Amino acid sequence: MLAGLPANSGLNIAYEAVDRHTLGSGADQVALRFLRKSGQIQEYTYTRLQELTNRFANLLKGLGVGKGDRVFTLAGRMPELYITALGTLKNLGVYCPLFSAFGPEPIRVRLSIGEARVLVTTKALYLRKVAQLRSSLPKLEHVLIVDEAGRSEIPDTLNFHDLLSKAPGRFAIPPTDPEDWALLHFTSGTTGQPKAAVHVHAAVLAHQVTGKYALDLYPEDIFWCTADPGWVTGTSYGIISPLTLGLTLIVDEEAFDATRWYRIIQDQRVSVWYTAPTAVRMMMKMGSEAVKTFDTGSLRFMASVGEPLNPEAVLWGKEAFGLPFHDNWWQTETGGIMIANYAAMDIKPGSMGRPLPGIEAAIVKRKKPGIELVDNPDITGELALKAGWPSMFRGYLGEDERYRACFQDGWYLTGDLARQDSDGYFWFVGRVDDMIKSAGHLIGPFEVESALMEHPAVAEVGVIGKPDPIAKELVKAFIVLKPGNRPDNALQRDLLGFGRKRLGAAIAPKELEFRRSLPKTRSGKIMRRLLKAQELALPEGDTSTLEETP
Ligand code: AMP
Repeated sequence: MLAGLPANSGLNIAYEAVDRHTLGSGADQVALRFLRKSGQIQEYTYTRLQELTNRFANLLKGLGVGKGDRVFTLAGRMPELYITALGTLKNLGVYCPLFSAFGPEPIRVRLSIGEARVLVTTKALYLRKVAQLRSSLPKLEHVLIVDEAGRSEIPDTLNFHDLLSKAPGRFAIPPTDPEDWALLHFTSGTTGQPKAAVHVHAAVLAHQVTGKYALDLYPEDIFWCTADPGWVTGTSYGIISPLTLGLTLIVDEEAFDATRWYRIIQDQRVSVWYTAPTAVRMMMKMGSEAVKTFDTGSLRFMASVGEPLNPEAVLWGKEAFGLPFHDNWWQTETGGIMIANYAAMDIKPGSMGRPLPGIEAAIVKRKKPGIELVDNPDITGELALKAGWPSMFRGYLGEDERYRACFQDGWYLTGDLARQDSDGYFWFVGRVDDMIKSAGHLIGPFEVESALMEHPAVAEVGVIGKPDPIAKELVKAFIVLKPGNRPDNALQRDLLGFGRKRLGAAIAPKELEFRRSLPKTRSGKIMRRLLKAQELALPEGDTSTLEETP
């Protein structure tokens, strides 16, 4: 039995991340140190975080929000987001973060699929993106605005801080079954609506163990995870994993700025740093001299995730910081790091590393029916993981068929193409499907196409990822216009603006090309791969094999 929890309490993520530390010598350690946009530094010890998350759990209870209810955030890296996430988990609610750079359409779709009951957001984001959607979201009962202490003047909203200050600071976490739902993370598909991957409280086992082994975290560390909290890395490694290990987590509210980042490492004495390839490539562009004007000597481990990390980037880490970047691999569905160049092994630059202890990974070929494991090294196939690790997703909300289709013969099929070398290291090759990775964000072409189709001039759209030296891919749209529309610059600008407004800058197309027609399969599906091959001036190959690709 865990001290502080009643018998048969099971396993609760927030208990493991916060309350457990208040029973011992970590109680007064700083858990979260926020570097605010204002320049202010705000610190929260584990004890203070316990009190605030208790208050938030009580706040939810007071609103009649309980077990299984979905509590969403649409916010940047601010203390209220962390309090909401952990307080929701204490109250056995299901926490779901949304990327604050999404436009109204992706927000509406996700709040609706996730059946949000509560949304925590800022005044600016609410007024710009959510207020207009309220009438189409009947299940969204409570919107809590985090700024403006004092009476909220925004109709149909409540004030986060007013309610939090009135809520009691003590809360008894109800007995939590490890299989109780805890988190919903949205991910995109090549067809259909975005998918909400369900994770359970047992995932905390993987969060803690992988933080230890893949990120080499210890309680003495000052850890900085640069991921946005709107995506899975921002929750698994930007909140849960480091807190379960009782260390101090740095949270920077600002967006990327290389010089500012070096200063943070220097001033905050960051010892472990977890970032992403796009950021590394942007830093490389500035050169290693820019790093050397700062004292980054506190760093002892650096890791990267989200997209392929070029071998040059691994080595540039050594040149600029005296340490290589350790690449690791995982997905929204896996909930935690599965494959890594971990501290105890030699890095092979360009490789994602080897499976973590307890994780079985393989290269497989899909057969009809079933799959076949590839025994020989260096053969490209689909990366598969033996099902059953604690942070494995337990479903796509409301889409059992789509969930079942991810598994074959006891293996989870990741949708990534990879190969394994004779030393057991895995090498990323590409995606099985048409998914786009731009600046680390997984973007479903279907979602972008659907938004552009709503423009009155558009008859057909096909969207692809076009290679880009910094962001890896950028979103490009091919458009067929309805009769009577001229394919000129003015319409092109209008369409790009339309995409940005509906989808948000991070996922909207950056490039757009007019076409008279788009290549299609016999059943009428747009052949995105052929568009891509044409864009890259690659041989179009035997198109018959493309005809019915998913
Ligand atoms: P997401 O679910 O948004 O986290 O995206 C997961 C996808 O990102 C994976 O399926 C890969 O395609 C890609 N990805 C993540 N980490 C890596 C990595 N280290 N190397 C190559 N691709 C990666």
